[in-house]
Amino acid sequence: MFDNLSDKLDKAFHILKGHGKITEVNVADTLKEVRRALLDADVNFKIAKDFTNRVKEKALGQDVLTTLQPGQLMVKIVKDELTQLMGGEASGVNLSGTPSVILMSGLQGSGKTTFSGKLANFLQTKKNKKVLLVACDVYRPAAINQLHVVGDQLKVEVYSEEGNNNPVQIAENAIKHAKSNGFNVVIVDTAGRLAVDEAMMTEIANIHKAITPHETLFVVDSMTGQDAVNTAKAFNDRLNFDGVVLTKLDGDTRGGAAISIKSVVNKPIKFIGTGEKMDAIDVFYPERMADRILG
Ligand code: GDP
Repeated sequence: MFDNLSDKLDKAFHILKGHGKITEVNVADTLKEVRRALLDADVNFKIAKDFTNRVKEKALGQDVLTTLQPGQLMVKIVKDELTQLMGGEASGVNLSGTPSVILMSGLQGSGKTTFSGKLANFLQTKKNKKVLLVACDVYRPAAINQLHVVGDQLKVEVYSEEGNNNPVQIAENAIKHAKSNGFNVVIVDTAGRLAVDEAMMTEIANIHKAITPHETLFVVDSMTGQDAVNTAKAFNDRLNFDGVVLTKLDGDTRGGAAISIKSVVNKPIKFIGTGEKMDAIDVFYPERMADRILG
């Protein structure tokens, strides 16, 4: 995960580690390399620039030039700033409803259905909840099937309505079913398109309005860098979602989405997906992620 970014940041700090006496020029060179590393990881230019400016201010404020181990101090400052950028404290999902309704949103292929299963499994096994999965993708029978396969595997009930092509109705009926059968959590998996389009946005906004979920999660493929951030913005404008799920962090992802999404939509990353299996889910901790990035 983030190997390329980690290597580049490590090289940037070498500039400071190699000198007996540090000058402002050394610090500036290091920050230039840090910025380049962020841009190569597909972090947006403004975010990368603001980031290095903040690090510079802190570094000068903490007298990095006169400290005995300037390299280490800079790594610490960068780590703290990265943690802040990715969200500070970790935050969980809202499970206050009876049942709690969680709406999943995102593009097709982002990993929504897989994550719906993972979250159901997580809540069932770790939080002792009775979970209902709801298949609301009325355009792709394969997607409904996929959710049933996941449900069978996890022994989680899946609600779907064959022949009904109204996702709002399906979601509402599913919640009624959950209420009368003692489910604690309802996870609504919705249809996704390959790109943001008006019809999809209107459909999910209608579902959102009708069921007023306790938690709306936006699922995004971490391999997609700045595209991920733009998609997040489009969904947030319509849904005002509560949190982000970053999937496919087990792949060769550059890191741009993880680093910048929070500052663009001002919503926390809540979970990460780290594989195709149902247990490949982790709660997102910004500080741990910053540690991993800095190696
Ligand atoms: P959806 O169209 O958004 O519902 O996406 P799917 O859940 O069908 O996932 C699309 C593909 O990504 C599938 O092949 C999944 O197995 C895969 N996938 C989902 N999450 C992860 C993940 O965290 N890591 C990896 N490596 N693959 C994932």
